Amino acid sequence: MKIGFIGLGNMGAPMAANLARAGHEVTGFDIAQPAPEGVTMAESAAEAARGADVVITMLPNGEILRQVAAEVIPAMAPGAVFVDCSTVDVESARAVAEEASKAGIEALDAPVSGGVGGAEAGTLTFMVGGPAAAFEKARPLFEIMGRKAVHCGDAGAGQAAKICNNMILGATMIATCEAFALADKLGLDRQKMFDVVSTSSGQSWSMNVYCPAPGVGPTSPADNDYRPGFAAELMLKDLRLSQQAAEAVDADTPMGELAMRLYEAFVEREGGRGRDFSAMLPRFEGRGRSDA
Ligand code: NAD
Repeated sequence: MKIGFIGLGNMGAPMAANLARAGHEVTGFDIAQPAPEGVTMAESAAEAARGADVVITMLPNGEILRQVAAEVIPAMAPGAVFVDCSTVDVESARAVAEEASKAGIEALDAPVSGGVGGAEAGTLTFMVGGPAAAFEKARPLFEIMGRKAVHCGDAGAGQAAKICNNMILGATMIATCEAFALADKLGLDRQKMFDVVSTSSGQSWSMNVYCPAPGVGPTSPADNDYRPGFAAELMLKDLRLSQQAAEAVDADTPMGELAMRLYEAFVEREGGRGRDFSAMLPRFEGRGRSDA
């Protein structure tokens, strides 16, 4: 296929390189990044999109997505598919889908889980919203860049799945970290804590796969001085998106809101920026009840 790829940062560059390696003709554009391996660079987003069967975007936020989509959609041929893989607000995803549909273009919101490691290894999970026919057209590309693609429903459903997942992840990571800090103060050995919880009803991905305690459980960013991994500020971004969505539809999400506030404090005032989101554990370690 002829693919336009816009946004070649930490995630986009390895995803585009994987598509090129699989034999697709990839034309890229980024305002700041060099060409990934196998990708030909264009002078503008519109030029990267012209004549493409599929245009993929991997951008920082919804506002930038809307700007890029407004430039790219008029350059695309009717029948082509626009696939946004960024994590953005549900409203922007739906607005872009509507713009695309007016121009005869099918749009998918297809945010990913799996991080930079997953993008490099081609093992991402895609959660996808939009028309079923467009999903089928893009599926072979999802299979190259990832291991699993779930068609979640209409436009915006992919973003909805992503922010719900990450709201659970943020809250469970905090719960896991505060429980470790409590266990420390109760004199419980961390390895014993892991052995019990990872095989009991308190288990979760945060405990079992991405354990925030160094030297315990499978290797995780905790074993690498909390270098990300998944940075705390990216978790904060996703928690803010979940609260923005919850407000828009009047959903009561007290745990998600508290998780957002804790990550906000951690990132903006407590030195958490640039650290992995599991560095909540050393944060709790150093605190007592009067710090809350
Ligand atoms: P990044 O900042 O490394 O990459 C974004 C790229 O977009 C940059 O290279 C930037 O120059 C480019 N860009 C910005 N404005 C542009 C424009 N107008 N035209 C063309 N290019 C433009 O970010 P990232 O880590 O690659 O993340 C991209 C998206 O993926 C975000 O929405 C993020 O939330 C999501 N995501 C990231 C991760 C992760 O672990 N990094 C995991 C899952 C999802």
